[in-house]
Amino acid sequence: MKQKSLLYTGKAKSVYHTDSKDKLVVEFRDDITAFDGGKKDVLKNKGSYNANVSAFFFAFLEENGVKTHFFSMLDPHRMVVRKLEMIPLEVIVRNIAAGSIVRNFPFTEGAKLDPPLIVIDFKDDARHDPMLNDDIIIALNLVTPAELKKIKKIALEVNRLLSSLLSSQGITLVDFKIEFGRQGKSIYLGDEISMDSMRLWDKKTGASLDKDVYRFEKGDVMAIYNEVAQRITGQKNSEKKAKDLFKVL
Ligand code: C5P
Repeated sequence: MKQKSLLYTGKAKSVYHTDSKDKLVVEFRDDITAFDGGKKDVLKNKGSYNANVSAFFFAFLEENGVKTHFFSMLDPHRMVVRKLEMIPLEVIVRNIAAGSIVRNFPFTEGAKLDPPLIVIDFKDDARHDPMLNDDIIIALNLVTPAELKKIKKIALEVNRLLSSLLSSQGITLVDFKIEFGRQGKSIYLGDEISMDSMRLWDKKTGASLDKDVYRFEKGDVMAIYNEVAQRITGQKNSEKKAKDLFKVL
């Protein structure tokens, strides 16, 4: 597997072509940004913590029947993935009210959302990722009604699986964002699932274990990312699994 030219560079990841037409390499860089890129830093090792947690979650979801783009890790910050045509939707599942839903609507921070809420934003930096509804998604031809139904079903399944996994580690999955892409007619989970894209609260103390630590300067971001990455991937039976993630293609 050889990494070739740069295909795309985002705020925290870069994507490269490879010598295989169906595979890409995603590099998790050490850049961290918040507030639409208004706050930025470079934090040593941050990319590898997020890559490792993402790889762990993708492998876990695959084992549980969710199709993801993940193939394997090349090194601690580079992941080999299936080449997808990405769908410009940010699919957010919320179990507890926090963040923008509290800023924009009269929810109380910390209130349980049962059943979980699915909120879908349009991935468009220039428009500041506005919230969509089903009619707008269909009118914009972003997905078909059947695909939208499928995406919501997968999002809830990912929520069920990750909530239960994290709960066993003493962590509450407050909310998270996922992205999807197509290969032919199949829909796969793409992008990443990491401390940058989830809101995680310690079950005992309620402390933030995610990018809110960076957004709101709640503590030592890298110490917390390191601790939470170990807590998530270091659970029972995970040592062998973590090694498997690095298998050579
Ligand atoms: O900011 P907001 O409350 O809408 O974020 C909901 C969840 O989606 C959070 O876990 C946040 O980290 C994630 N998110 C993301 N990328 C975005 C917007 C939100 O990963 N562009």
